Amino acid sequence: QRSPEHHRPEAEATTTSDKLIHRLRRQNKMVARSYVVFLVCYLIRGCNAVDVGSCAVYCQPGDDCFPAAAAWEALAAQLSPNALYQVPTGAELAALYTQLCEYPGDVEIISRYGSPFDNLTNANPVPTNPEFDADLVTYMDSLPWNQDASGERITAPWRAKADLRPDEFLGMHLFVKDTFSWAKVYGFHGLCQGATHAQYVDLNPKEELNLPAYTVAVKNAKDVAVALRFAKAHNLQVVVKNTGHSYNSASTARGSLMIWTALMRSTPTINTDYRNTCGQHISELSKGFGRVEGDVPQGVVIYDAGTPFREVIGRAIQDGYYLVTGDRPSVGPGGGWLLGSGLSFSHRHLGYGVDNVVSFDAVLANGTIVTADACSNTDLFWALRGGGGGSFAVVTRVKYTLWKDSPIQDLKMHPVNMLGQPWFASYGICDSARFAKLAEATQVSDPTFSVTSMLAFWPAKAGQAADHDFSSCPEGVPADKEAWQFESKDLSSDEQALCVAGKTAHLCGTWGELYFDFQLNADPRWGSHPGPTVQFRGTRAEARETWLNRLDEFWNFPGAASLGEAFWGSPSLYEVREFESFQDQRMRDAFLIGKGLVDVYTYSSSGACPTASSAGECVKEWVEDLTGQTYVGPTTGIQFTDAYPIGFDIPPGMCRAILGVTDETQLKSNPILNTYLGKVMYMLGGKVNLVAPDATALGPAHRTGAFYLVSLPPSYCVLGFDLGGAQVLGASFNHWSLGGLTDEADFDAFAWGSNAPRLKKIKAELDPTHVFNARSTFGYLPVCPKPSPEPCVPCPAGSKAPERKLLFTSLPCCH
Ligand SMILES: Cc1cc2nc3c(=O)[nH]c(=O)nc-3n(C[C@H](O)[C@H](O)[C@H](O)COP(=O)(O)OP(=O)(O)OC[C@H]3O[C@@H](n4cnc5c(N)ncnc54)[C@H](O)[C@@H]3O)c2cc1C
Repeated sequence: QRSPEHHRPEAEATTTSDKLIHRLRRQNKMVARSYVVFLVCYLIRGCNAVDVGSCAVYCQPGDDCFPAAAAWEALAAQLSPNALYQVPTGAELAALYTQLCEYPGDVEIISRYGSPFDNLTNANPVPTNPEFDADLVTYMDSLPWNQDASGERITAPWRAKADLRPDEFLGMHLFVKDTFSWAKVYGFHGLCQGATHAQYVDLNPKEELNLPAYTVAVKNAKDVAVALRFAKAHNLQVVVKNTGHSYNSASTARGSLMIWTALMRSTPTINTDYRNTCGQHISELSKGFGRVEGDVPQGVVIYDAGTPFREVIGRAIQDGYYLVTGDRPSVGPGGGWLLGSGLSFSHRHLGYGVDNVVSFDAVLANGTIVTADACSNTDLFWALRGGGGGSFAVVTRVKYTLWKDSPIQDLKMHPVNMLGQPWFASYGICDSARFAKLAEATQVSDPTFSVTSMLAFWPAKAGQAADHDFSSCPEGVPADKEAWQFESKDLSSDEQALCVAGKTAHLCGTWGELYFDFQLNADPRWGSHPGPTVQFRGTRAEARETWLNRLDEFWNFPGAASLGEAFWGSPSLYEVREFESFQDQRMRDAFLIGKGLVDVYTYSSSGACPTASSAGECVKEWVEDLTGQTYVGPTTGIQFTDAYPIGFDIPPGMCRAILGVTDETQLKSNPILNTYLGKVMYMLGGKVNLVAPDATALGPAHRTGAFYLVSLPPSYCVLGFDLGGAQVLGASFNHWSLGGLTDEADFDAFAWGSNAPRLKKIKAELDPTHVFNARSTFGYLPVCPKPSPEPCVPCPAGSKAPERKLLFTSLPCCH
């Protein structure tokens, strides 16, 4: 019999308890080693945060080495006024966080201020009420961008099939949610986290709030440099935060010093004659991108890192330019969006955000202010283009490519995700569950519904020719919705229903083939965001030539119009809206609904802030009145009245991943992918795949992948996982969700693949002591757990307790 202390050597450990004991021993050794190295470093003042390969040690509140109040006061004196904020703790923090960061729901806000609709006639914020507020409608009607060419008010018919006009949508949602969203981004010194899980330690709602000890609302590069030098001198962990859109606590960490960049804003300027530090003119920096042959960049827009997309876009469209942007005006173009990739519906022909940035001003971990471009600080320039935010430097200013403008076509293909389960707006025509009846009637056990089987196997099983000529069914083309619903019928006795099922199978297979082809090979002017709607940058005629004609051809079979009427109330397969320019699209797109230009209207007509003359002033009043806190955010300018999510998460157990296609034929036989094809969020490919995977630090999957899916079961979220014709190539860093990967150590490889080693080297050179450190950023190291204090033991009789000087503070206390 072995006693519990006598465990097998590690190599031989087989039982769970043996393995656990070895793991704990290893961890203790590592923690002990971290602290020894830290102590040496601290004494010789040669380094601070210590990277020992597995965890990092910082001075945190409560530690002897944490700066005293006087040191913080001295720091505040060197910074812009009101920049430094000490984060409260305990009940005070909890109360403020609840008031400012957690959406209380419309009811509470309305009960505080009265209904925002009180001042409006016929007020009733119910989507289907036809008498929705007449004042707002009149106002919206008066805006030119809310009309189409014939002067008709634009509707957004596909939006939830509710036939909502943009003004209805605006009136319903914006006042309350935007007020809250604005307060959430600017109201609490940068402390609110966008994603609900991100606000807790370890993304675990059962844990405490994951907030820094201090936050610095930097206004300029000097503030950043001062804060970083202070952090380095005192061995503080630094996190960088802009808008807080990160899903994964990438911009916060408990006990850290947060550098909050959202107030570092400038009025964007345009330079059409920009040259980088090598003297190259902007027109030479296109790198093979462009809408059409010969297209070259027109100039750069220059903005400080905290300037929101709305203002950068607002400046560019004034002069008639286009730029690659995220879809929401609340996402920041100078932070994580840009550094992590910069996905857009237009990236297939103009490149990702990282392909469009030509210069960064940034502050290094040691407080040095630098410019990084193709010829200066080139390693940093490489790393910042795709290596992600929060790890290499704090970006303070960006120079970003402008392109010629063009019309934009926004296309919704009604049955776009009819291949699988709906996630956005689907009619489920090809949902495999629908065909279960066909399998049952034809006695196929364990059926497979893939593109290939739909084309031939299932029509044959139903005794049909491999076509979708519904007029050849016994009773001809089904006339109404009921007649199309074969799944509710007994297929073994109902010949018409059996025929409809077989023909529908063929239709679904044909659609699958066409849609696959589009996803993989579309003209690069087509792209998607948010999938499954797709957009085209060009004229209607170009869109026809490159895709719409093929859709018309596809939708030309006996029964097509009847099917459309039955399922989505229109004989047509698709709906396309033309925007004459970028401005037109940003102002009246159904998804973006032009919220920026009506903010003053919504705020002033809400009655919530009778004395405020701008949306920002209204928020200031609201925040200060509600919390007694000083509001430090913006009060003027076009702000983003964008319904920034009130709490969003990519739930654990779901993975977002980039897939590459290895075998198209196999893919079409694969039932799994059919299910997920409807969930393509972004189409990749096009011109971004012509860039060498190591040209920027971006995860190579972005250069070799075919599309980016929003949800895969966690078991598939493994690098190189073979889905049968497709392979999981990695993560889209910007939408990283932790789903499927439980160990953050795998994250660097999953997100950056073959670019990870070079990034590691650059990180070691630029930030050798790991000042920048946050979850889900490159090179993340968890903070080492504090070693538990040694128990006090009485000193032997007669011996004298050692004097507790600096070096001996960690010794056991004998007395
Ligand atoms: C509603 C919504 C819409 C989105 N739409 C898109 C989209 O269209 N396209 C797309 O690609 N992504 C999109 N995203 C994902 C988004 O790009 C990422 O969440 C991104 O990380 C946000 O960056 P941020 O700076 O705004 O947020 P933050 O959470 O403040 O920062 C994210 C990361 O960037 C770092 N960082 C921020 N500022 C700086 C700086 N100045 N210097 C160095 N590091 C910095 C932070 O440390 C952190 O690691 C969207 C997200 C949401 C929630």
